[in-house]
Amino acid sequence: MRITDLIEKKKHGLPLAEEEIGWMISSYVDGSITDYQMSAMLMAIWFSGMNETETLCLTQAMEHSGDTVDLSSLPGIKSDKHSSGGVGDKTSIALIPWVASCGAVVAKMSGRGLGFTGGTLDKLESFTGFRTALSNEEFLTQVKNIGCAIAAQSENLTPADKKLYALRDATATVDNLSLISSSIMSKKLASGADAIVLDVTCGRGAFMRTLDDARALAKTMIRIGKRAGRRMCAVISNMDEPLGHAVGNILEVQEAIAVLRGEGPADVEEICYALGSRMLMLSDLAGSEDEARDMMRRHLADGSALRKLAQLVEAQGGDPQLVWHPERMPLAERREEITAETDGIISAIQCDEIGNASMILGGGRLRKEDDIDLSVGVILEKKIGSKVVKGERVATLIGHNDERMDTAVSRVREAVLIVSADDAHGQDVPLVKPRPVVLEVLE
Ligand code: URA
Repeated sequence: MRITDLIEKKKHGLPLAEEEIGWMISSYVDGSITDYQMSAMLMAIWFSGMNETETLCLTQAMEHSGDTVDLSSLPGIKSDKHSSGGVGDKTSIALIPWVASCGAVVAKMSGRGLGFTGGTLDKLESFTGFRTALSNEEFLTQVKNIGCAIAAQSENLTPADKKLYALRDATATVDNLSLISSSIMSKKLASGADAIVLDVTCGRGAFMRTLDDARALAKTMIRIGKRAGRRMCAVISNMDEPLGHAVGNILEVQEAIAVLRGEGPADVEEICYALGSRMLMLSDLAGSEDEARDMMRRHLADGSALRKLAQLVEAQGGDPQLVWHPERMPLAERREEITAETDGIISAIQCDEIGNASMILGGGRLRKEDDIDLSVGVILEKKIGSKVVKGERVATLIGHNDERMDTAVSRVREAVLIVSADDAHGQDVPLVKPRPVVLEVLE
């Protein structure tokens, strides 16, 4: 086979056969297909698309491009959760121990942040000493002992996705339905869970801007998972504004802990309930959503969800005292407040720009080898639809005493839009109705 023939085929919108896709992925991983050839193929896929059979073949070729995890030695139904990415998404840090305290078995493999979206592994390192690199045996033993673990993907899990994702990032070909679904689902299938709940984000801060696109992504991933014999469900969630109030590593961990104390922002709590109840139902631990939510409510109220987080942190070498005293996590020294320049209503908070501001402060990485500063970030005091009066604080930036702060301040100032009485030409300020955090649930 020759890659140029396959590029030619895809360029003209023709479907690739299973053997062609399998050959292309293994040849790319072993280096016999070059990055520039694969870049051309990605762009051809971006323009011509892939049908469902091709997408499934691509997913399976990527899933089997490296090691796969065998969770069969663990008892019961193993569940997993994955988000298609967002800003301020600290869900996993609260959700995984929470559902584990209800009896779910969760062996979760997570990634690091790239660009303006943060990664769960980086955030967890806010607990001093926390180890994300667990051996396969440590990982399984921990899940057996306490019901959950969150670890870095083993080096050789889906190497095809690692190479392809980096190439997509560098060639503006990330935002394609088949490429996103195969990337996410290859990792999820290789990670071995029986039941997978997907959080498909939708809106300005997500790859999928419209509900139709998010629905199409969710449906494709559900079909791929079901065809591979897994129990599947997807929650489409709103990413028009960052989730919760905190963006930045330590800040987000503190907010996740607040959720487990029953003091978290309503949107973070609700997405946890929506995803967690489905994890419990797919694990046969609850017969209905009401029953699952009730179970979660009880485990939050009696403190067992928070204790499970402390157990998880301790089991992975982190300091569990920080779960009880999150205020001890060291934040950067400088604070800058952004205040409303007019009376009005918050009409938009541009997610990507808030994520970029946190990255400029040092909280994210441009390249995967960059270091990350856990101590910086942005606190959004207001959500879309909130009323503000002139001079009221809308955001606080936490960073260091250098020029990065000034750049970040202007990014956040531009990202928070207020409709004022002036904009309304003397009429009442129009009501801005924010979308709910859960837009749809698909099975
Ligand atoms: N997350 C992934 O893992 N892959 C994508 O392509 C997009 C989001």
